[in-house]
Amino acid sequence: MKKQTTTTPKLDFTSKWAYAPSPESTDHVQLKEQYDLFINGKWVKPVKGKYFDTVNPATEKKLASVAEATQEDVDKAVKAARAAYENVWSKMPAKERAKYIYRIARMIQERAREFAVIESMDGGKAIRESRDVDVPLAAAHFFYYAGWADKLEYAFPGKTVSPVGVAGQIIPWNFPLLMAAWKIAPALATGNTVVLKPAETTPLTALKLAEIIKESGLPDGVVNIITGAGATGAAIVNHPGIDKIAFTGSTDVGKLIQKAIAGTNKKLTLELGGKAANIIFEDAPIDQAVEGIVNGIFFNQGHVCCAGSRLFVQEGVADVVIRKLKDRLESLIVGDPLDKNTDIGAINSKGQLETIKKYIKIGINEGAEMYQSSCAIPSKGFFVRPTLFTNVSQSHTISREEIFGPVLAIQTFRTVEEVIEKANNTPYGLSAGVWTDKGSKIFSLTTKLRAGVIWANTYNKFDPTSPFGGFKESGFGREGGLHGLAPYLVMN
Ligand code: NAP
Ligand code: MG
Repeated sequence: MKKQTTTTPKLDFTSKWAYAPSPESTDHVQLKEQYDLFINGKWVKPVKGKYFDTVNPATEKKLASVAEATQEDVDKAVKAARAAYENVWSKMPAKERAKYIYRIARMIQERAREFAVIESMDGGKAIRESRDVDVPLAAAHFFYYAGWADKLEYAFPGKTVSPVGVAGQIIPWNFPLLMAAWKIAPALATGNTVVLKPAETTPLTALKLAEIIKESGLPDGVVNIITGAGATGAAIVNHPGIDKIAFTGSTDVGKLIQKAIAGTNKKLTLELGGKAANIIFEDAPIDQAVEGIVNGIFFNQGHVCCAGSRLFVQEGVADVVIRKLKDRLESLIVGDPLDKNTDIGAINSKGQLETIKKYIKIGINEGAEMYQSSCAIPSKGFFVRPTLFTNVSQSHTISREEIFGPVLAIQTFRTVEEVIEKANNTPYGLSAGVWTDKGSKIFSLTTKLRAGVIWANTYNKFDPTSPFGGFKESGFGREGGLHGLAPYLVMN
């Protein structure tokens, strides 16, 4: 019998099939030219009459002008939230509160496409992500916390719980709608009222959420959404009528907030930066791990606080993992966020693009070896090629500081002890990933890695039932799950 021979075809990415453009339609999207502040259930003009532009980072075109709230507007919003808390929301039976939260969840689902498209237009993230991750998860958070509203006594048995009062909530630009949901849903379920400020560069989905909240018939003043820059956030933090601050953003601003409220009675949760270790052992399923690494750092342009930005590969498989990663990088599509084929969309802002480029330069200058995909990137808009660095050591800036972009720093290790030491050698402690065939190794590592979330043989998976939050300079307090209720309650 003739012996059959098979040859493995050599992968040639230069001749890969080009995908036909597949842009998501924007016809169904309704954007106003100008957005006012959502205070006490109404759209009101900012006292000082100032507005700023929000732009599409993929086209650099203006999408809308948005009100800039000053201290006077913050004061109005806090007063509205206080009145709603005292007169309506804290008195309403919990099961009635739950109905509103369910309604908001359903309305997000009904308008999911519009939310997804606006999220991608305003923030630059690939439509596949806003459509499949951000928007469904935002709805899921409202559904999940609606379920808790009338069961708080079971959540904390033996305790008497009551709401904190008025919550001031400040969120970043990387998951605009999802972060709003993470903040608003548990606050409402526990009987608090809210003043929320989205980030300056991504206000539109929060303002769309305000439209839904108005349509849902939620009593006036229970949720107030005000836009503005850092000063607006600071005015919320410093307002004496606020009982609790929930902040997600950078560690630097988190520290400022902590100082600002020291000595006051305000409660605080901080969800801050990260520099996560993604650890690949020799016995890991390599192909899945490579996908996990890609998902860990290139997902959402690396604009992810828990991004697996430090890769640790065990020496025996380092060559093969790095080769496969480079091949995979070549196949990633960078471009129009609204195109359904796009893997990596636009960087959120010009400023952030400059930060990423600065770190890439530092990486090269400090002697690390850079590899970038050879893909074409659009000439207009804020884009960067997915980038990885080898020959990296613990002391390199790119392995110490949060870049918040699609830039991966790769190191190797030999033993479990060595990788634990290296992975923990960071001021951050938000998340980590472990890839191995051995359950025992996973359990041993999860107890030794100083990180709030540890994924095993997967990465960047979120669920409303599971708590999320940091160790060390990644912040304190948990959001999500049963744990996410506690910061909004006074317990006796
Ligand atoms: P940022 O600069 O700290 O901003 C976060 C929010 O705070 C924005 O709404 C910002 O307004 C506002 N702000 C700025 N200065 C303020 C001040 N002095 N007082 C009160 N509020 C102020 O962070 P970012 O650059 O938007 O977001 C990226 C960071 O968020 C990264 O470090 C990332 O790791 C972190 N993050 C953490 C998590 C987590 O769950 N741990 C999740 C997502 C992101 P403007 O937009 O107008 O400046
Ligand atoms: Mg924008």
